[in-house]
Amino acid sequence: MNSAKIPTPINEPVLSYVPGSRERSELKQAIKDLSGRQIEIPIVIGGKEIRTGKTVDAVMPHCHRHVLAKVHQAGPEEVNAAIKAARDAWRDWSNWSLADRAGVFLKAADLLATRWRAMLNAATMLGQSKTAFQAEIDSACEIIDFWRFNTHYAEQLQTVQPISSPGIWNALEYRALEGFVYAISPFNFTAIGANLSSAPAIMGCTVVWKPAATAAYSNYLLFRLMQEAGLPPGVINFVPGPATAISERLIADRHLGGIHFTGSTEVFQALWQQVANNLKNYADYPRLVGETGGKDFIVAHPSADVDALATGIVRGAYEYQGQKCSAASRAYVPASIWPKLQERVLSMLQDARVGDPADFRNFMGAVIDKKAFDKIKNYIDQAKTDPKTKILSGGECDDTDGYFVHPTLIQVEDPMYRTMCEEIFGPVLTLYVYPDKQWKETLDLVDRTSPYALTGAVFAQDRTALNEADAVLRYAAGNFYRNDKPTGAVVGQQPFGGGRASGTNDKAGSMLNLIRWTSARAVKENFVPPRDPWYPFMAEA
Ligand code: NAD
Repeated sequence: MNSAKIPTPINEPVLSYVPGSRERSELKQAIKDLSGRQIEIPIVIGGKEIRTGKTVDAVMPHCHRHVLAKVHQAGPEEVNAAIKAARDAWRDWSNWSLADRAGVFLKAADLLATRWRAMLNAATMLGQSKTAFQAEIDSACEIIDFWRFNTHYAEQLQTVQPISSPGIWNALEYRALEGFVYAISPFNFTAIGANLSSAPAIMGCTVVWKPAATAAYSNYLLFRLMQEAGLPPGVINFVPGPATAISERLIADRHLGGIHFTGSTEVFQALWQQVANNLKNYADYPRLVGETGGKDFIVAHPSADVDALATGIVRGAYEYQGQKCSAASRAYVPASIWPKLQERVLSMLQDARVGDPADFRNFMGAVIDKKAFDKIKNYIDQAKTDPKTKILSGGECDDTDGYFVHPTLIQVEDPMYRTMCEEIFGPVLTLYVYPDKQWKETLDLVDRTSPYALTGAVFAQDRTALNEADAVLRYAAGNFYRNDKPTGAVVGQQPFGGGRASGTNDKAGSMLNLIRWTSARAVKENFVPPRDPWYPFMAEA
């Protein structure tokens, strides 16, 4: 048993990729290498690669005729095999010491910080259309942080122990969940695939991981990295394939120990419903952890610093094409600062280039696929024809070569217009200008406009206004920002997740999340057990 102490983590520094830097030339080379060849992505179960021959293409969103990989799809047989492999691996893995399990992920973190960095970032840029910076903060820094911080939090959790009393020694044993965990990850962050599969594994669970079809390319390389770091066969099983069929089979299994999900609200609700329908058949109550949609806001007070606000809007709403669950998609601005703000934001958006992320001058790439493109375009087209809305910037959509949507700013007269309320998940921000004297009413409006409560930001230099927003919007966001954009949570600094329709708020990248993957056992040892059953009060007077 390895009982080494886990090193105290610090956040992985974000590399700059400035012209002339070593990381820039390594990344450009990796982009060239990966785009120059097509790979096959197998299913990996119990450490064995399986090719079913039924494949779907992984393409570049910004050049959709370019096929990066053929991804083999799992059918019922592979899903059954994955459950068996996870259960078999559990016997051993759940008995490894935390230090030994952590060793795998700490090694993976160091491999990613060095030799794997350029390749995983390049894969994320090519397959998910991220710029170099967006890839760096996701597929390098955030993953490294998840691994270094989560192992540290798991160690801290083990030190949370009950008190003992004279003659009695008490302990809490943090056992892995008894069943397997089903990890279902979204397309938009490679790091979420890493965290959903590895957080339960760090706690000793074994996992069946179904990546999103549109992120299978980077996710497969990430899986290979974990294998290189020494992840034993079967601890995490990589099972790409048709989501509904895979989920139905896994959720029907008696040994489902938990679901670790990130994605849309409807899908999570459907999964929860399926679990509820099957409740009587489980060996244990499955843990359900889901981080889902958002309709994230920026609300500005008349005292706001207009330059900071404009930058927060542009970065918060449009980076990674607005496809962050935390992306600002509705803004509330007081009439007094609107003319100046409008001028700043429109001028910034004019300079925001959209195109192939391999051209480092671009600020944005393409949206993920045809389905997303059509959905976003539909919202924009409808806004164009509505007499009560104005498209102030953008509105162009072109899917000839890639799924490009230009950063779009819509101004509405009705603060309950549909683009103020519904999650679009694209580079579209809807803005409502309110009369300055209605600051408090506007805060109420922000709170009640959408069913979500993921992220939100307030911009004000007046501290009383900050506190007012803080109080009224207490439950409107699980991650709340003062004078900063609502995106870019950092592991160890801003544990991430929201409530209401945005999920179970189990805070990815914190001890609160890890607690969900352990089933504690209280053990009492009596050093001096009683040797006679009768109590003193029973004696005759
Ligand atoms: P999605 O719900 O379409 O897909 C997420 C995962 O669920 C994918 O692996 C997908 O294959 C799978 N899936 C889809 N339909 C399924 C079904 N019927 N049964 C089982 N699994 C199914 O979401 P997406 O488009 O990949 O990601 C975007 C969504 O994710 C947005 O709503 C966004 O807000 C949300 N998101 C939330 C967070 C957060 O932390 N709250 C983070 C990232 C993304």
